[in-house]
Amino acid sequence: MFKGILIEKDGNGHRARLMEIDDSLLPDGDVTVRVAYSSLNYKDCLAITGKAPVVRRFPMIPGVDLAGTIEASSHPDYREGDSVLLNGWGVGEIHWGGLAQKARLKGEWLILLPAAFSSRQAMAIGTAGYTAMLCVMALERHGVTPNKGEILVTGAAGGVGSVAVAVLTKLGYRVVAVSGRLEEADYLKGLGAAEVLGRAEFANPGKPLGKERWAGAVDVVGSHVLANVCATTKYGGIVTACGLAGGMDFPATVAPFILRGVTLTGIDSVMCPRPTRLEAWARLARDLDISKLDAISHPVIGLGEAISLAPALLAGQVRGRVVVDVQR
Ligand code: NDP
Repeated sequence: MFKGILIEKDGNGHRARLMEIDDSLLPDGDVTVRVAYSSLNYKDCLAITGKAPVVRRFPMIPGVDLAGTIEASSHPDYREGDSVLLNGWGVGEIHWGGLAQKARLKGEWLILLPAAFSSRQAMAIGTAGYTAMLCVMALERHGVTPNKGEILVTGAAGGVGSVAVAVLTKLGYRVVAVSGRLEEADYLKGLGAAEVLGRAEFANPGKPLGKERWAGAVDVVGSHVLANVCATTKYGGIVTACGLAGGMDFPATVAPFILRGVTLTGIDSVMCPRPTRLEAWARLARDLDISKLDAISHPVIGLGEAISLAPALLAGQVRGRVVVDVQR
């Protein structure tokens, strides 16, 4: 038996509970992982609360992230005792995930834990941090260098935003953070933001084009915020869109794209090919100032607390990243 969060949906509605689960119920897979830490991502909170249909099979153990040790493996790349890491691949959505003490998975989904990080640190980064790095890599591929101008990061006090601010700062960019919580300005400046702007400046319907300011942007919010970010991006600049914390809609015009050659690029961490993941984690080992991880990390919580914290995270009330110690 092992402990895990189990989400059920039936005639009695949607519920997420901490349960004792029998090993025999684990799904098929060629590796079994003893999970040490997981994390609480925006998507996990949608799954736990049932606020959006991210879970596509019930019952489901949520958790798009996990870090732990191989307990059994018939996969040629992994042996008992190896420290591993997993992000995405539909885990926590269609395949039982990381918010449990045990997981059975496809070995091809795993990567070896990078030597630079402990499993707890890897989960403090998690899918949010790895996605932030995918955004940074997209900016670089577009040729955005620090001398090209400022980079805007929206939803900056959240998980993706915090890591994006820290990484971009270390790489020498001048980072402007947008946050709905101006009380977190000192936190964001501590991560390296040169300036913090209020969300209100971006959250309402805006003009098709505004004053050109950003060489690049990382947007986790979507909706009017994303539209206004595109409208104020400089000629030839790029906006990386990875989130929907403010809405799934995109009420914009084509003006920034056809008059300023702005590029809007989508970022997906879930099905991202393995070589790109390995590159992103190698870049995190190099370009994330590990001393900033403590500030980015919310106090570590246990599995039961993950259920109770989910609504607050969706409401944008949780700062940084939440690590879950699944043994608690
Ligand atoms: P968090 O909840 O940690 O952060 C989201 C932040 O967005 C909040 O902290 C808040 O920042 C801001 N925010 C919250 N609600 C609103 C709102 N109604 N309007 C405007 N801003 C809001 O989530 P993550 O950082 O983990 O994820 C951010 C988004 O990115 C989510 O939508 C998530 O699903 C998505 N995501 C996508 C991935 C992909 O592969 N494409 C991978 C990982 C995440 P502040 O208070 O500073 O304004």
